Amino acid sequence: MKRVYNFAAGPSMLPLTVLEKVQQELLSYQDSGMSVMELSHRSGLYTEVIRGAEQLLRDLMNIPENYKVLFIQGGASQQFAMIPMNLLVKSGKADFVNTGSWSKKAIKEAKKFGEVRVIATSEDENFTYIPKVDSTMIDPEADYVHITTNNTIEGTAFRDFPDTGNVPLVADMSSNILSEEIDVSKFALIYAGAQKNIGPAGLTVVIIREDLIGHAEETCPTMLDYKTHSESGSLYNTPPTFAIYMAKLVFDWLSDHGGIKAMQKVNEEKARVLYNYIDGSKFFSSPVRKDSRSIMNIPFVIPNRELDTAFVKQAQAKGLETLKGHRSVGGMRASIYNAMPLEGVQALVDFMREFEEEHIL
Ligand code: PLP
Repeated sequence: MKRVYNFAAGPSMLPLTVLEKVQQELLSYQDSGMSVMELSHRSGLYTEVIRGAEQLLRDLMNIPENYKVLFIQGGASQQFAMIPMNLLVKSGKADFVNTGSWSKKAIKEAKKFGEVRVIATSEDENFTYIPKVDSTMIDPEADYVHITTNNTIEGTAFRDFPDTGNVPLVADMSSNILSEEIDVSKFALIYAGAQKNIGPAGLTVVIIREDLIGHAEETCPTMLDYKTHSESGSLYNTPPTFAIYMAKLVFDWLSDHGGIKAMQKVNEEKARVLYNYIDGSKFFSSPVRKDSRSIMNIPFVIPNRELDTAFVKQAQAKGLETLKGHRSVGGMRASIYNAMPLEGVQALVDFMREFEEEHIL
């Protein structure tokens, strides 16, 4: 069986043991004679799956009691609209930090629902750093402040989160949820598309403080109101049952491997190994400022852009998959989410060294 090191930004690699477990249970889940895909979402067996997934996530992230965990569809992109529909309802004003392509999309969508102010941006330098945000920049009347904690395309990440005082802090954590320890209580709402560190695409996780639920306008479509999902335990309609089951297996895997604390150590080591090599190289370089670097998505460039295609192709021949950079940034990008083992990063660095020796003038 062929398996490769998949450096895709998402959907991305899943732990092999999780996939094997899925394979094992695919035809008959817990001797039921049915696949999880075939189980009623209201059945006892499935209730254990969805509530089990929630509890594991609560334990892993140490989610306080006054937060709801919602399993929703529509991707992180749907949250760009759901958040203002539910939260932009008091002053009708929201403050955003613009750190890249995904922030921009969130801003564009929120503008349809209220007054949006960009309080800090790194657009002046191609989003290669995280701008400083201090509390004086924040409108105390704003309904919320929105940040993208990890910028998947640009390869930047917040190292410290802004102190927003009483103004709720909302975070798109699609590409770094579960990768490092965070204090959930600093956030009012956290959301993430599943397809990087959680499981298959089709599931979106929302962690929301209870006091922010129930304020959407009467005209808000039922499915876009957090209250609907909160009151029904994410079972108002048929949820993405199989994706939630797989997320549960990923949460199990993470718990078995020491939880987020242990995962963070490995993630930091993976990023250190790759960045050490890039920074020491006379051939490869990083466009990202050192104090703003993501440990999940690592873009890098080579002087002769014509070699990009050769790099990606030769890497692929060595089982190092999907290293092409995002079209808006160019060059290469290695996404090294939780399921990427250190050996995968070492194999990439070995290949980069070979490529450098072959091509450096
Ligand atoms: N936000 C970030 C930071 C992302 O990386 C992505 C997708 O890659 C999205 C939002 C959009 O997610 P989705 O495709 O689930 O709508």
